[in-house]
Amino acid sequence: MDLEKLRKTAAEIVSRDDVKYLIGWRPGSFGYRVSPCFVQDAAGAEELIFSPLCASNLATYLTLVEKLPVPRGEEPDRRKVALLVKGCDSRAVVQLLVEKGIEREQVILVGLPCRGVVDLNLLQQKYPEGLEKGELSWQEGGFQLIRNGETATIPREEILAEKCRLCRYPNPVLSDVTIGDPVEPWETEADRGVEELEQKSVEERWDYWEEQFSKCIRCYSCRNACPLCYCDDCILDRLNPIWINRAVNFSENTAFHLARAFHLGGRCAECGECERACPMNIPLGKLNRKLAKEVREKYGYEAGVDPEAKPFLASYNPNDPEEFIL
Ligand code: SF4
Ligand code: SF4
Ligand code: SF4
Repeated sequence: MDLEKLRKTAAEIVSRDDVKYLIGWRPGSFGYRVSPCFVQDAAGAEELIFSPLCASNLATYLTLVEKLPVPRGEEPDRRKVALLVKGCDSRAVVQLLVEKGIEREQVILVGLPCRGVVDLNLLQQKYPEGLEKGELSWQEGGFQLIRNGETATIPREEILAEKCRLCRYPNPVLSDVTIGDPVEPWETEADRGVEELEQKSVEERWDYWEEQFSKCIRCYSCRNACPLCYCDDCILDRLNPIWINRAVNFSENTAFHLARAFHLGGRCAECGECERACPMNIPLGKLNRKLAKEVREKYGYEAGVDPEAKPFLASYNPNDPEEFIL
């Protein structure tokens, strides 16, 4: 990764009068952590990094921060926001554009072809002892890890995040400037995991999801981490009518998960942030990918790949099978 070029490009962008800030990643304060950062001047750009630890999807901030109410008496700051995007992150931005959650003129996308990020849990299982700082970079066939002054090589398959094993869009699908050469997409079984579940009987699938949903503590980290969960008025927060009860039990948890999964049907960018944020390790990706598979196979629609597309639920094709209409 040409970090120098990334930092130079970022410095040029944030020096423009029409740019508010650039959202990127910088080293975290301990362990393998990486933090999102808001770069406001050329000096701040020197902190930026891009490594296999940069798993978070920064597009979430476009809806989290950029949609905050403007304090009374102040004018909204309409300057552009620049954003570093991997392939999956760019799909979330495209989906936001498609559904007019953001405007194209509002964002500058710095595309970063991506060779896959790591699953921090797998990395920590491999090296359970604490450490002050660890650095990770891509190398042929895997990753190079520097920790406690020592360098190690880790094969890709050992610590690659599941979403990256299944990734079909490692290169940004939309960007204004791209840093680095495009990567060759790797062979993947996009629906692995989903197909395994499809082979099971209805009872077995029910048991599987009952076990998973029963673990949910309804912390809503999955919703909050999702770049496409940005309704001003979320049904989960509603008290009147109360669509989903506050009680944390299998029944209400199931209502929550099904409502969220269907709300993301034809919209999910498959960035894996919901699953990564879940403290209970619930395989939310399988649920979202099942919906994405149905939408892809039945309607030939894929979320977040075409900025000119119409939103899935706003598209109509007279050749839709409509088997359910008698
Ligand atoms: S899903 Fe694809 S684009 Fe996203 S981090 Fe993994 S490899 Fe990179
Ligand atoms: S992040 Fe996990 S535990 Fe929290 S609400 Fe979502 S699924 Fe439940
Ligand atoms: S539902 Fe999960 S995978 Fe899909 S866009 Fe939201 S955070 Fe990403």
